[in-house]
Amino acid sequence: MRVDDWRQAMSNPSSDPAPEAAAPEQIEADRIGVRRSSPPPEAGLYVVATPIGNLRDITLRALDILAAVDRVYAEDTRVARKLMEAYSLRPRLYAYHEHNAEAARDDILKTLAAGQSVALISDAGTPLISDPGFKLARAVIAAGHRIFPIPGASALLAGLVTAGLPTDRFLFAGFLPPKESARRTALTPLASVEASLVFYETGPRLAESLADMASVLGDRPAAIARELTKLFEETRRATLSQLAAHYAQAGPPKGEIVVIIGPPLQTEVSDAALDAFLREALTRGGVKDAASEAAEQLGVPRKRAYARALELKA
Ligand code: SAM
Repeated sequence: MRVDDWRQAMSNPSSDPAPEAAAPEQIEADRIGVRRSSPPPEAGLYVVATPIGNLRDITLRALDILAAVDRVYAEDTRVARKLMEAYSLRPRLYAYHEHNAEAARDDILKTLAAGQSVALISDAGTPLISDPGFKLARAVIAAGHRIFPIPGASALLAGLVTAGLPTDRFLFAGFLPPKESARRTALTPLASVEASLVFYETGPRLAESLADMASVLGDRPAAIARELTKLFEETRRATLSQLAAHYAQAGPPKGEIVVIIGPPLQTEVSDAALDAFLREALTRGGVKDAASEAAEQLGVPRKRAYARALELKA
């Protein structure tokens, strides 16, 4: 059914009669959502997030789209089939992965050019995030087609929000290189980034990576979020060196892992250093300006700088 036909049908309910006897999977579909009343998707590429563990972490809209698109491209069709079975979906499934990406891209572009809709899913979470799809998105845009995000789970955000570390600014750096020297080289420019850092990592490499992170980034507070949304979900919080020591001793943890690291440590500004700064600033201006300058340049809390500037002035 095309979009216009659907709109017509919805404006005239008598043309959309309920089936006499709904199939069991349709009853289930109605119970969990709104699939039957969703419009057929417009032509375009739908980037659909799927669960990262718990199968119920999928949106109603994602189910609508997967039920209605002309084709679903999946990183691994066997993994995708399990998800589809859980929700009684029977889409036309095709593979889109590293090894067939070029040919599959051509097929997808032809499908879109024919006015059809295509969904892209990965094995878990949000496609394109440390997963295939970026080149496809670029090609789809270049060919003048639309891309629709169908947002949902992603391990990076799930990990970040369980870490208890600052979330106002963060940098996602995906997987680090497996070899030590390349890993340290990749970490070096991240040391000065004023933000929390988020990485994906594997169990066997975790202890070594944490040790490199501690030595290149400094011994910052960090968290290891493991098996998120699954049975053995665990978040361990400590400094990087403590975490490195823990996993070196305990052995590689099983399952999937997100590493979250706090921003660079603020070096504590001593009272003497603050006084020296304020005395000089007070020769040029008033208490308020001196305190603002100290807060901005030394990174001390404005309240502390203001209180001390008042005392010095007095
Ligand atoms: N596209 C996915 C996303 O949006 O999260 C990520 C795909 S990437 C190939 C897979 C990596 O994500 C895993 O190696 C692990 O680092 C992380 N990951 C995926 N699921 C996870 C989970 N349930 N708990 C912790 N980390 C997970």
